[in-house]
Amino acid sequence: MHPISKAIRTQIERTGEMEHSQPMFLTSSFCFDNAEEMRAAFADETDDNIYSRFSNPNVKEFVDRMCVLEGMEAGFATASGMSAIFASFMTFLKQGDHLLSCRSIFGSTHTVITKYLPKYGISYSYVDAGDIDTWEKEITPSTRMIYIETPTNPALDVIDLEAVSRLAKKHGLLLNVDNCFATPIAQRPGDFGADLVIHSATKWLDGQGRVLGGIVLGNKELIKEVYMFCRSTGPSLSPFNAWILSKSLETLEVRMERHSSNALFIAEKLDGHPKLSWVKYPELPSHPHHHIAKKQMKNGGGIVCFELKGGIESGRNFLNALQMLSLSANLGDTRSIASHPASTTHAKLSEAERIAVGISAGLIRISAGLENRDDILADILKGLDAA
Ligand SMILES: *Cc1c(COP(=O)(O)O)cnc(C)c1O
Repeated sequence: MHPISKAIRTQIERTGEMEHSQPMFLTSSFCFDNAEEMRAAFADETDDNIYSRFSNPNVKEFVDRMCVLEGMEAGFATASGMSAIFASFMTFLKQGDHLLSCRSIFGSTHTVITKYLPKYGISYSYVDAGDIDTWEKEITPSTRMIYIETPTNPALDVIDLEAVSRLAKKHGLLLNVDNCFATPIAQRPGDFGADLVIHSATKWLDGQGRVLGGIVLGNKELIKEVYMFCRSTGPSLSPFNAWILSKSLETLEVRMERHSSNALFIAEKLDGHPKLSWVKYPELPSHPHHHIAKKQMKNGGGIVCFELKGGIESGRNFLNALQMLSLSANLGDTRSIASHPASTTHAKLSEAERIAVGISAGLIRISAGLENRDDILADILKGLDAA
């Protein structure tokens, strides 16, 4: 069966009511018929649910579907994308270890790597997306993990998964990939050799701006360790959010087809606009990593970036002139969203740090929604008139 059909058809056991959609298991704990069953569950001899911090049927369904979509063996679902990322660091890194990460990454991930990991004696080096040949010289005997996003948020760099995977294998490092922007519809990092695949389910996986969620996927042994860490520290996904996310996955493919075709349309129409110094989208031939995107992505995803020649002031005028697009820090919604990273998601970075991660004063990020593409374009053009 095609992974999409299989994911849609993946359900946990039905109750006697034979419901078509999963009921919600809004319960903090589960009980046992007798002492022996309870003993066996605690001894890990059965996979009975014990407590929703450890496992829950709705959460299991979401995880099982994600395993099918990403082609991974196992997963642990978390309350947000950040808790998934943090859990993957805390499970596999220890004092004295070194992490190699691409420079352009989600703002909060940058904060975790530069501010919190060093508190536990974990050091890092940032490397540039375009030039994987230079990464090897940053690897030291204490390097344990390579962490990347591709495409990156918000610079939209595309990193060669096959090449990074080869490097990770050569040095015995864990390759940890945040696949939030691509989604498994466009790319499956595990197929290229990634050991861990992370998602902020808050974005395209829900795709309707309703709930926070995250997941770490990997092989059984690795995820057992993530599970043990999370079971004790408690970043677990709520069953209600898991129910929402599990249903969302049934429409993921059709939504991503529309999001990405809308994004490509906008990118093509804006390319060359006189108020813009550049437009970036993985499927545009002018994208510096277009050849890599062609090799590893089935579509370019739903995000388009461009740079306003007029800088900060121009960015503000652009946002203020929009009538349909939402001004929001989120992305991956049914509704198109415009954001200005320099004044929002990456505002905590110094200007020099922002430039280093590819965020200039006039950078605008568009998350293409599901509206009619002509309406989205018309609103952006109105914004550009005022910019
Ligand atoms: C939003 C985002 C995250 C964080 O996810 P939350 O669910 O908001 O915690 C991580 N990585 C990327 C690429 C993101 O866009």
